[in-house]
Order: sequence, then structure tokens, then C-alpha cells
Amino acid sequence: MSDILGENSVFNKMAENDHQKVVFCQDKATGLKAIIAIHDTTLGPALGGTRMWQYKSEAEALHDVLRLSRGMTYKAAITGLNLGGGKAVIIGDSKKDKSEALMRKYGKFIENLNGEYITAEDVGTSPKDMEYIKMETRHVAGIPESLGGLGDPSPVTAFGVYMGMKACAKHMYGNDSLAGKVVAVQGVGHVGENLVKHLREENAKVYISDINEERLAYIAKKYGAEVVANNSIYDLNIDIYAPCALGATVNTETLEKLKCTIIAGAANNQLADENIHGRMVMDKGILYAPDFLINAGGLINVYSELNGYTAKRAMEKTEHIYEVTSEILKKSKEENIPTYEAANRIAEKRMDDIRRIKASY
Ligand code: NAD
Repeated sequence: MSDILGENSVFNKMAENDHQKVVFCQDKATGLKAIIAIHDTTLGPALGGTRMWQYKSEAEALHDVLRLSRGMTYKAAITGLNLGGGKAVIIGDSKKDKSEALMRKYGKFIENLNGEYITAEDVGTSPKDMEYIKMETRHVAGIPESLGGLGDPSPVTAFGVYMGMKACAKHMYGNDSLAGKVVAVQGVGHVGENLVKHLREENAKVYISDINEERLAYIAKKYGAEVVANNSIYDLNIDIYAPCALGATVNTETLEKLKCTIIAGAANNQLADENIHGRMVMDKGILYAPDFLINAGGLINVYSELNGYTAKRAMEKTEHIYEVTSEILKKSKEENIPTYEAANRIAEKRMDDIRRIKASY
């Protein structure tokens, strides 16, 4: 069959990771070109943000949406949420090509999926865009507080990262106190700032780096953190490295320099190559908290909004990241496998178990 379909077949690409459904949305009048990918709905409706990006080709957009939607399946599963994995991309320049009509037309495509896919904000889309989408469909989350949403997820995300970090400390040092520990936070944006706040409240020593000098000075003064030059963050004598800016900062080059014992941060896809660096981190005796678990506070926030939970309940659910991180670290140690792999196996087991239950009624 694959020979007939050809190398670039969408069906073959979907089959690689067993994606359920991919929807191509086109509207000439508004210029909308979007792809919605639904990876797996075993645990619930597929949830994932809409990214608007100037992809170089249709193939690149498809590759991204398939990869990201699969990631959402694992993130929801490991976090214990009743959600499946999905994601959407709109091809275009988010600064020039957006309009109310385009977003509303896109909302209509989501509505036609009858709740199989729920969208939210992502790179290149904003709460305002979610408002437009909401005019056409109920299946959207991450809307402003004024419209009944739970607002900015960053404080919840930061709290989850903090919980994951404490679980790593317990596993590594026998005690989850971060008092006196030396932590380097790379990127002090929305999440980074809230993480610094928690760490300083617990009397950790905090180094910070960012490309935005003004922001650095502001955060340093507000929380009593020490500024370091961006490039020197990997040379510091620290206990914990918390990447909160970019992905792929845990790579062969940085691992040669890094002197920490724990890596726990908010950035997505911190390991440059999971297959290589997951094991390399382990061999260096560093505990790596899987990013897709400990930064799941944002997803928990959106899930809470959909279920009508309060902000307090979202925080309580996020606290649970501590237990799940501990379980993953234990499994990783017992089975001598990288932590991300332990997380994947727990997520897959949950999906298999629930799939079996569903088959029985
Ligand atoms: P943000 O844009 O508010 O902050 C990012 C910060 O990193 C900015 O201050 C920016 O100046 C800085 N930065 C950019 N490039 C840098 C570099 N090369 N070196 C050092 N600093 C640099 O973003 P955020 O919402 O705080 O998110 C931080 C990370 O966490 C992102 O990778 C994001 O994808 C991920 N994340 C965020 C959430 C959330 O709820 N906001 C949820 C899950 C994951």
C-alpha cells in the first residue's frame, strides 16, 4: 500500500505515529490555510493550541503539526488529564495575515469537528484570536478572564515546574528543600519570573540570564537574584539548571560544560535529541525532569477552564506534578532508562489501560 501512495503521502506520514485524523482547511476569501491534526482521542477530545507561522512549505507545516499533536497526547496522558492530543497550524505571517474573518472562518472549521478537537493559544495566536474563534465555536479554551476564562497560565506553569524541581531534589538529595540550593534560571519571561519568585521565597540562591537587559535588571532587583551573562550560564557552579527560554539547550556542547545535578525548567523540547541526550544526561549523573510533564501547568489551566474548575483547583491539580515526577524518577532508576522514556512508558500504559476499559462498555 505504501508503495502506491508514494514517499510524500500524507497517509504514510500519519501512519508513522498512528495519527487518527488530519483536516486541511482552506478559504480563498480570507486566505485561510490551516491544518488540524488529531493524534489520539483515547483519553478524551484532542486538545492543543493553534500555531500561526510562516512555514517554508506545506510539508514543513504538516511535519510540525503531526509532531506537536503527538506531543500533546503524551503530555495529557502523563498529567492524568482526560484529554487526547491535537494541534493546529495556520500557515501565514501572524503580524500581517490575521483578520477577524480568517479567525472566525477557522473557528467554523473547528465547530464542524463537533468537539473532537479543542483549540487554545500558541505561538503566533493571542487571547484576542481565541475570542474571535469563540464567536463560531464552543471548542476553544484559554480565553481572557473577562470572558469567563482562567487567564494567563504562566503562574500555574511556573508552579508545576517548581513542584517538579522539588521532586527531583527529594530524589537527588534526600530532601525536597531548595533552601541554599543554587539555581540558574535561563529566561525570565512570564514563567521564569514566577519560578524565580518561588525559589527566592524558599531562600534558594538564584542566577538569572535573559537577552532582554531591562527585564533582567527588573527581576534581579525585585527578587534579589544575581544576573549572569547569557553565554556563561553553562559554566556556573550550580545545583539546578532551569531552562525557561528556548528548546534544545541540553545538547552535546552544553552537557560538556554543565556542572549541575538537576535540570528542571519550563522550555519545551529541552533535549536537543531525546535519543542521544536523554541517555547522555543520565550517564553524567544529572536528573532531568521531563519538560512535557513539569511544564503541563498551562494545559491543566486550560483543562480546568473547560471543566469549570476554579483557579485554586487548577493549582491543586498542578501540585500533583510532584508525585508524578517522583514516580518517573523511580521508574527511570529501577529500569535504568532515561527519564523521558520512563514518562513515555507511564503515559502509554495509561492509554492502554483506558482503551481496554472503554472496550468493555
Ligand atoms: P516568554 O516569552 O514570556 O519568556 C521567554 C523569555 O526568554 C523572555 O524574557 C526572552 O527575552 C527570553 N529569551 C529569549 N531568548 C533567549 C535566550 N537565547 N537566552 C536567554 N533568554 C532568552 O515565554 P514564557 O511564557 O515565559 O515561556 C517560557 C518557555 O516555557 C517557553 O519555551 C514556552 O514555550 C514554555 N512554556 C510556557 C508555558 C506557559 O504557560 N507560558 C507553558 C508550557 C511551556
